Amino acid sequence: MGITVVGSIAYDAVSTPFGERQLMLGGAAVHFALAASFFERVHVVGPIGDDFAEEDLARIGSRGVDVSDVERIAGGQTFFWRGVYGWDLNSRETLETRLGVFEGFEPKLSAESRASDVLFLANIQPDLQFQVREQLQDARFVALDSMNLWIDIARESLLRVIGSVDCLILNDSELRQLTQKPNLIAASREVLSWAPTSDRHRGPSVIIAKQGEYGAALVTRTGFFSLPAYPLETVVDPTGAGDTFAGGFVGYIAAHPDEELSDELLRRAMAHATVLASFNVEEFGTERVERLNGAEITERIAELSACTSFSAVPAALRA
Ligand code: AMP
Repeated sequence: MGITVVGSIAYDAVSTPFGERQLMLGGAAVHFALAASFFERVHVVGPIGDDFAEEDLARIGSRGVDVSDVERIAGGQTFFWRGVYGWDLNSRETLETRLGVFEGFEPKLSAESRASDVLFLANIQPDLQFQVREQLQDARFVALDSMNLWIDIARESLLRVIGSVDCLILNDSELRQLTQKPNLIAASREVLSWAPTSDRHRGPSVIIAKQGEYGAALVTRTGFFSLPAYPLETVVDPTGAGDTFAGGFVGYIAAHPDEELSDELLRRAMAHATVLASFNVEEFGTERVERLNGAEITERIAELSACTSFSAVPAALRA
């Protein structure tokens, strides 16, 4: 039982057409953990620097998230990311990335973090993801997110860790970049055909292509499913939407340990992922998800179901 996540724990500086924040709590592992904590106990693995405030650690630890494997590195600086969005909130420009304490970080997992049956390798240097993967060899479900930076500068390492997971979650453009295939279905099929990293690993059987405000698509060996984003009128800051999506998806799977990983289960997980992400983008950083409650999630799941279902009533088609 439980979910372990490794990934960035960050301070972000973000500017969107609707405002800006100079130093806000962020990081892939943080957004993931806050979302997944609605479903299961989450253990966060990653380093922070001297500059990381105790009260921010307490914010991550709310909702029962275990932060005992968050390592404070004396003399180190917390991971920092600065990004800017224009009117098209689907694309952003990274202005600055400071790895800080992630340089030279060697994850040491507690027995509790190693005992989780579900693992999420949030976006960070792929060798680091692999080190954590190797410490949870018996996990029943392992998912991974990454980004263009690692496809560009650490491709071989990334391929090694992808071959060791069950589920790959990427932005559509990153999936195209990774496979050099312009069509998303063909790109997903390509990844599904890749051999596992070793006999000990299963290799990816679930591919998710995130498409920002247009939703996300799911491809498995037996099926395809796609959901639009939840229809929102106001989007303020998309930072962390992908990780919050992953938190909803992986969290839902973790909360159903006795169900086999069927396409039907994966569809329900996609719906929860979509709904969690929709809350994340309503305010800056983690602000909205920190105030979220279960009743709001349940209500939005019903609304998403209502606005995405239709009856397959055929028309009397003319010859
Ligand atoms: P998302 O919008 O879901 O892609 O995630 C945004 C989060 O990822 C921000 O909170 C950043 O701190 C974090 N981030 C940005 N760049 C990197 C990177 N190169 N490695 C790890 N995390 C990153």
